[in-house]
Amino acid sequence: MHLLIDDVQLWDGTGSPAQSKMSVEARDGRIHWVGAASQWQGNRATVRVVDGRARTLIPGLMDCHVHYSSPGGPEWIARFTDPLPEISMRAIELAEASLRSGVTTARDVGAPQGVSIRLARAARAGEIRAPNIRAAGTWIAHQGTYVSFARQFAEADELRNAIRAEIEAGADLIKVALAGWNEGARPKDAPDIPFDKKLLAMAVEEAHKAGFKIACHANDPTSCRIAAHAGVDSLEHGMFLEASDLVAMEKNKTYLVPTMSVWDAMLYYSRVVDWPEARRKRAEDLRQGSRAAVTAAIKAGVKIALGTDAGGGAARHGRIAREAELMVECGMESRDALIAATSNAAKLIGEDERGTLEEEKIADMVLLDASPLENIGALRMIAAVFQEGRRVA
Ligand SMILES: [Zn+2]
Repeated sequence: MHLLIDDVQLWDGTGSPAQSKMSVEARDGRIHWVGAASQWQGNRATVRVVDGRARTLIPGLMDCHVHYSSPGGPEWIARFTDPLPEISMRAIELAEASLRSGVTTARDVGAPQGVSIRLARAARAGEIRAPNIRAAGTWIAHQGTYVSFARQFAEADELRNAIRAEIEAGADLIKVALAGWNEGARPKDAPDIPFDKKLLAMAVEEAHKAGFKIACHANDPTSCRIAAHAGVDSLEHGMFLEASDLVAMEKNKTYLVPTMSVWDAMLYYSRVVDWPEARRKRAEDLRQGSRAAVTAAIKAGVKIALGTDAGGGAARHGRIAREAELMVECGMESRDALIAATSNAAKLIGEDERGTLEEEKIADMVLLDASPLENIGALRMIAAVFQEGRRVA
């Protein structure tokens, strides 16, 4: 496969400003050459040439928080308990929708019965049209909290075993969920959050010892506090992070993955679906908390990676542009929102060969009909998506 994207504005994701009148040549899945369009020396007759004029080329987008096993929507949690054949087939379809929106790499941070691990393998084998997927397998949560279809533990030993079992099953990373007790499940004298500091420290140690990253769901004040100080690789959601938590995250090099698309979608559904007022109010509170946390995280210099929580929250798949827009609304520069969706995401996921458009890197690229540096919403104006140098959308 031999491809030339000719005479394009290039934003390469390294932090350098965009450059106009550039060309990018891809050969055998990798970026072979990057330079001024006028300097390209090859033979046009032997290359597939893509017109880049008045277009912007950026690295393939990365969504650090998706769940391809659910379609999102107003009843997203119920969708995780649909019949397994339906979940499996749907996951293939949703992964393709994600790819079409420019997502060439995704972290699937939790699926029932490890569906995401199978999906990631099928994608890696080239059997389905999907992003390059890094799968967490199944969520790990304390018994009596979070969702019933997570892998649950009660004792420390069971937590270690759960992590080992995920690794054994083929997970690429570990996902733990800190949450309060479900209604009626709280034993007498139990703490608010049973998955406490000590247990989380053990989980971090166990994952890191095995060379795996660990992502931590935290969406209430106590969980945010515990997760921010634990040295996890990423804190997911984080709507109630306070100044001292952000200092700890910056020090621990913990990424924040804000998933603001969720509250945005929930507020939409609260208007168009018959949701009780209390549910609408909760969505509004979460949205406010999330915005405040993201704005403070930007100021505190916490590393941010983009994640939509498509499927796992109310957000649907294929809407990554909306998350970038919400980041910009919270005070992020467009270029920083793009970095959150490319090179920062690559660092969090551990994709050393992706995330920037430089010679020798894997040629995952998105060609846009407008510049997202001027208006981040231009991420919707997709002209083409390339995965390993091959056009896939
Ligand atoms: Zn999620």
